[in-house]
Amino acid sequence: MTTEDMENVRKTVIIGSGCAGWTAAIYTARANLKPLVLAGHEPGGQLSLTTLVENFPGFPEGIQGPSLTENMRVQAERFGAELVHGVVTAADLKKSPSELTVGKEMVKTETLIIASGASARWLGLPSEQALIGHGVSSCATCDGFFFSGKPITVIGGGDSAMEEALFLTRFASSVTMIHRRDQFRASKIMLERARAHKNIQMITDTIVEEVHDVKQKEVTGLKLRNLKTGTVWDHPTSAMFLGIGHIPNTKPFLGQLDTDDEGYLKTRDNVFTNIPGVFACGDVQDRRYRQAITAAGTGCMAALEVEKFLEARGE
Ligand code: NAP
Repeated sequence: MTTEDMENVRKTVIIGSGCAGWTAAIYTARANLKPLVLAGHEPGGQLSLTTLVENFPGFPEGIQGPSLTENMRVQAERFGAELVHGVVTAADLKKSPSELTVGKEMVKTETLIIASGASARWLGLPSEQALIGHGVSSCATCDGFFFSGKPITVIGGGDSAMEEALFLTRFASSVTMIHRRDQFRASKIMLERARAHKNIQMITDTIVEEVHDVKQKEVTGLKLRNLKTGTVWDHPTSAMFLGIGHIPNTKPFLGQLDTDDEGYLKTRDNVFTNIPGVFACGDVQDRRYRQAITAAGTGCMAALEVEKFLEARGE
């Protein structure tokens, strides 16, 4: 390798700029590793899609989701982290250093922290996309409180939807669940719990065709269609929560890193992948907790392991 190539090899690169990525950046920057943070297609991660975050310790009045990751960015950059807006489209992790394709550039790195997260699955309706943050949400824990005393609708028939619906009964005047089939993926216990709740109503074989009202910039109702009867009607509601699953952002690593049956990266001892020097943290390897604070926690762990890995190499 030429001297020029050597200069181009980073000590560590962090893929993703959510809670996990920025926490890893703060720690590796303070260890003088000059981390390069690749922002990804959702800069700020899932927090950038939420409003007030009230369960991140240290903010007694809560903090806006986008402000929280923005603060982390400023903190990491203060210690020398470098941010590049770009998406990793390909990765060769079997090579040492690892090679990442970012747009037209090639980035080489001795260690890698994958914090690319998992993106909420959306229905994909234009009206839904326009109202994200204005009554459309994929995070009941983050946004449920804002709809206290109001009717709320949850979409989905899996455990996430059941969990969201049950959680939202704490705030909502009523919760309506809408599922596209009459069979549920949810575990029996969760389904029974939701069915037994007096404030949860279930509508099956039904899809959402439109979210009202984009002009008013708030959710006022949903246009629904029963797939068996063809009946179309308007269902008044103040919020629509999606519980239709998440998609881990692992595409460039498939075939190289071990994944579970849903594509989440498999880790052992919290952050170790099957390739030495490649670590994973946050939602890309966590389908259980999915909280900002747990993502930050594993981001810290990954950074400390990067330090240890480089130390063991005598660097
Ligand atoms: P999931 O089990 O894959 O369920 C997704 C649900 O969303 C399904 O009912 C699916 O309908 C529906 N759906 C998907 N795409 C849709 C679309 N475009 N339009 C309308 N509906 C759509 O996902 P999950 O509930 O997030 O659970 C993921 C995993 O985490 C599961 O293994 C689950 O057990 C686990 N989990 C466990 C807990 C817990 O134990 N407390 C809590 C949350 C999650 P179809 O059924 O028709 O495909």
